[in-house]
Amino acid sequence: MSVATEDANAVVIERDAPLSTWFGIGGRADRLARPSSVEELLRCVRMDPALRVLGDGANLLVHDDGVSELVVCLSDPCWERIEIDQRTGRVLAGAGVSLPRLIKATIEAGLAGLEGLGGIPATVGGAVIMNAGGKFGQIGDAVQAVHAVDRAGIEVVRDRREIRFDYRRSGLNELIVTSVEFMLCPSDPAVLKERHKEVMAYKKGSQPLAADSAGCVFKNPLLDADLEGIGARGERVSAGRLIDLAGCKGMSVGGASVSERHGNFIVTSRGCLAADVLGLMGRVRARVADRFGVVIEPEIVVWRRDR
Ligand SMILES: Cc1cc2nc3c(=O)[nH]c(=O)nc-3n(C[C@H](O)[C@H](O)[C@H](O)COP(=O)(O)OP(=O)(O)OC[C@H]3O[C@@H](n4cnc5c(N)ncnc54)[C@H](O)[C@@H]3O)c2cc1C
Repeated sequence: MSVATEDANAVVIERDAPLSTWFGIGGRADRLARPSSVEELLRCVRMDPALRVLGDGANLLVHDDGVSELVVCLSDPCWERIEIDQRTGRVLAGAGVSLPRLIKATIEAGLAGLEGLGGIPATVGGAVIMNAGGKFGQIGDAVQAVHAVDRAGIEVVRDRREIRFDYRRSGLNELIVTSVEFMLCPSDPAVLKERHKEVMAYKKGSQPLAADSAGCVFKNPLLDADLEGIGARGERVSAGRLIDLAGCKGMSVGGASVSERHGNFIVTSRGCLAADVLGLMGRVRARVADRFGVVIEPEIVVWRRDR
């Protein structure tokens, strides 16, 4: 990796930079920047309006060839601020704040609304873009407003009434989220702590949290016809269950395998390629389609060179 500045206004650009993801595999970025102010971020947007944003890399597979667009990482402390108003329940968090850290801070402040998101690795920006959540709630329900920069380099604010949060989507993907306002409810910290503990215990019991993965690889599909023993038309059913019933657990391609613990987790081992993960995803998809006539769509984001 080498470091150089792209223009006289000095945004430091790292060349051929590794991209840290939870899969622990994948290619590098031709160019990576870590802006330390909104002004620097705006300069990055002007440099490459098609830039990509790297959060915690917990839902990301980078193709082995890496990516040519500028990658921006909001890891500077200026994106990691948390402001909590205990009286009103308003919380402002920078896009680079770690979600587990925010959850801990809000529980300690006696504010309810995020404790059900325990066990989800993410930055606040990545969690809002993906509308991260599950059995115990989704982050969109607590969002009051999103502050961001658009691809024309303009600072924008989206009120919650303008955001169409849906299952694992926010509709905000074209924006670069800079901070998020949440509205939480005053509650007893001891009760919140207990609830958070229960959520964590559930996750630890059902997911291979120690392995390298990106969480659930596929979205839970909506059934477009009744499926005996699985669900009714219009129902969202567990992709992990379909994968399991289709006999995919333990299937592998190269260094990627379907977790024995949770059918919707693909885990990677030393030497695994992104191409192995993509190959395995293709085989799992085909098997589920063959067995149930259901097409499962990826939940993970895949970055390819020159998209
Ligand atoms: C062990 C494990 C368990 C998981 N469990 C869950 C779960 O229960 N529920 C769930 O929903 N997910 C789960 N996930 C997936 C992951 O935690 C979430 O999708 C999370 O929201 C990803 O956030 P991130 O910051 O890591 O984003 P990344 O993976 O870095 O990026 C994901 C997408 O968000 C975009 N992005 C990131 N930050 C910004 C920003 N500031 N502005 C604009 N775009 C941005 C990226 O460009 C990319 O398109 C799990 C993952 C792991 C590894």
